[in-house]
Amino acid sequence: MPRQAYDIVIVGGGPAGLAAGLYAARARRKTVLLEKGVIGGQIALTELVENYPGVPSVNGFDLAQTMLKQAESYGLETQFAAVTALEQEGKRWLVRTAEDEYVGKAVIVTAGDARQNAARQVVSSASDGATAAIAAEHYLSSNFAAEE
Ligand SMILES: Cc1cc2nc3c(=O)[nH]c(=O)nc-3n(C[C@H](O)[C@H](O)[C@H](O)COP(=O)(O)OP(=O)(O)OC[C@H]3O[C@@H](n4cnc5c(N)ncnc54)[C@H](O)[C@@H]3O)c2cc1C
Repeated sequence: MPRQAYDIVIVGGGPAGLAAGLYAARARRKTVLLEKGVIGGQIALTELVENYPGVPSVNGFDLAQTMLKQAESYGLETQFAAVTALEQEGKRWLVRTAEDEYVGKAVIVTAGDARQNAARQVVSSASDGATAAIAAEHYLSSNFAAEE
């Protein structure tokens, strides 16, 4: 099975994953985002978003596409695939899908809200993704500096 190596692998392309992708790519980390369904996750299915700061009113799918374009403009790669397994391999992580395997120095899992029916908001979700990417950047700087 083909294997591709990345600094950071992101599982899930909702607002949290897209924000993580933007931060990781802007930090010049080779980053891939794996999405099993629709880019934007839940927000892509939302007709009208009126509480995203700086954007008075927007269709959720369009907001997600804007987030994607912004992250891709900094080098984020996107693949449509469902992650089926995550395994540690020494200092790295093996991320399996049906077709491919991805090896990451760090993995960010933004696969949706485990707390069913929790009142999440797109802004707090995106903030979580950004925070995760900043933590991943610190982790890579501390643990892989000798290889860079
Ligand atoms: C009907 C509706 C209306 C909403 N309206 C608003 C609103 O107006 N304003 C607002 O602030 N919030 C709104 N929300 C909430 C907002 O959509 C969520 O808070 C936000 O989408 C959560 O983002 P997330 O990235 O954490 O998770 P999600 O959006 O759930 O994204 C997770 C992504 O991970 C992917 N994924 C999961 N498992 C895997 C796997 N194994 N492999 C690959 N990919 C995987 C999923 O396909 C999904 O795309 C609404 C939600 C709904 C359902």
